[in-house]
Amino acid sequence: MSGNKASADNKMQYDYDLFVIGGGSGGVRAGRLAGAMGKRVALAEEYRMGGTCVIRGCVPKKLYVYASEFPAHFEDAKGYGWTVGETSFDWNALVAAKEAEITRLQGLYTKGLDGSNVQIYDSRAKLIDAHTIELTKTGERVTAEYILIATGGRANRNENMPGYEYCITSDEVFDLPELPKSIMIEGGGYIAVEFANIFHHLGVKTTLIYRGARLLSRFDKDVSDHLYESLLESGVRVLTKNSIKKVEKTQAGLNVTLVNGDVETVDQVMLAIGRLPNSADLGLSDAGVAIDKSGRGAILVDEYSRTNIDNIYAVGDVTDRVQLTPVAIHESMCFLETVFKNNPTSPDHELIPTAVFSNPQIGTVGLSEDDAARKYKNLEIYRAMFRPMKNTLAGRSDKTLMKIVVDADTRKVVGVHIMGPESGEMIQLVGIAVKMGATKDDFDRTMAIHPTAAEELVTMYKPTYLVRDGKRVEA
Ligand code: NDP
Repeated sequence: MSGNKASADNKMQYDYDLFVIGGGSGGVRAGRLAGAMGKRVALAEEYRMGGTCVIRGCVPKKLYVYASEFPAHFEDAKGYGWTVGETSFDWNALVAAKEAEITRLQGLYTKGLDGSNVQIYDSRAKLIDAHTIELTKTGERVTAEYILIATGGRANRNENMPGYEYCITSDEVFDLPELPKSIMIEGGGYIAVEFANIFHHLGVKTTLIYRGARLLSRFDKDVSDHLYESLLESGVRVLTKNSIKKVEKTQAGLNVTLVNGDVETVDQVMLAIGRLPNSADLGLSDAGVAIDKSGRGAILVDEYSRTNIDNIYAVGDVTDRVQLTPVAIHESMCFLETVFKNNPTSPDHELIPTAVFSNPQIGTVGLSEDDAARKYKNLEIYRAMFRPMKNTLAGRSDKTLMKIVVDADTRKVVGVHIMGPESGEMIQLVGIAVKMGATKDDFDRTMAIHPTAAEELVTMYKPTYLVRDGKRVEA
């Protein structure tokens, strides 16, 4: 029997060429494209197609960010000669509009899979062995040559904290029956910062509480500092080096006892203290799939997203590499190249641009100044702080921050950090240049577009200061 014939027979002994567990960004992309290649594919999703990003993450969050920006637009309009009539906000109308939009997107995801002949199982799935999957809704068992686990992450609910059950996470926040009058949000990362802004600008009395000293602790220090000042200036209450010890339900609301002994009463408490890999009850040990020993439960994968079991792969948040939607999609594309196109391809996790949709936004790519100083001996730091043009007539004092970190020896731009309106859009494009290895001279010889905020990125000709062996020195 020829090798090809043997492998064809081997394939046909399975119901599917590929079984995907999880209908989020990573899983749907892999399933749809494998189906389009003519592979026999099935995908199981226990909840709604689209996963965290579409259903209770990036997409609804951005819609809520837009909603929260309107009060500032109404205010700013005065400076431009407009008189804005009485305004009011209807939380339930926003929730309903959001729901219609994510239902539309959910439908598109399903349609894409259908169009690629992917068999969809509306059920939770778990592994029985390395090639067998059980659909828990019906008990049906199917087999597949390859299995891709793309089950994403879940919010850390801090179950050791007394009263955690009274707290919400990003899972519940989008569908609260009413807009709370006050909220305490715990965490200093993406979600905490974004939701502190959303609620504050929607008129909710908002307290952000963070265990560390510096919000967005992994970002450039200038960005963290500017964010902290912006939050305070806009009226968000920020408590640092403090955290929630316990939460009790009373008639007046939720009584929150803080680690420093203070007790406060709020309508809602939201925990935004990170997300954990969603790997429990998947039958991983039955199939022999190894998870990390740290207790977070990440599925361990090699550079091709392959687990310790040859035919089982995992992508996205369940692997706890970089918790971002586009990264999960990229990992899926690499998986397809590796497994079905005979082109082993490792995901590239270097220089990932990212944005925090705070108000104003943050966009960042590459190394922070501190990380760059640990890696490079000589740095040039270019830094600008200015009032964006729109804020002049609006009478707004908010400033935009732009910072470029350059390895002085090679002139390579190793980090760009922006905080100001539209930073997310800007950093996507700057990210291309940085990924291509652009030098500061490339930035300098790029013609500015006037008048824009982004022109500042190509007109900072003189370093603001230098860093030598980790120490700041004047330029
Ligand atoms: P992050 O990892 O961004 O931040 C978690 C925060 O919670 C940190 O400030 C951390 O503190 C703190 N924390 C962790 N454990 C505890 C604890 N036990 N008690 C108190 N505080 C704690 O996670 P998020 O939940 O904000 O978001 C999850 C992921 O989702 C992000 O990592 C991001 O990748 C992704 N995301 C991306 C968005 C975007 O691209 N715009 C938007 C939203 C989410 P410390 O700093 O001290 O560790």
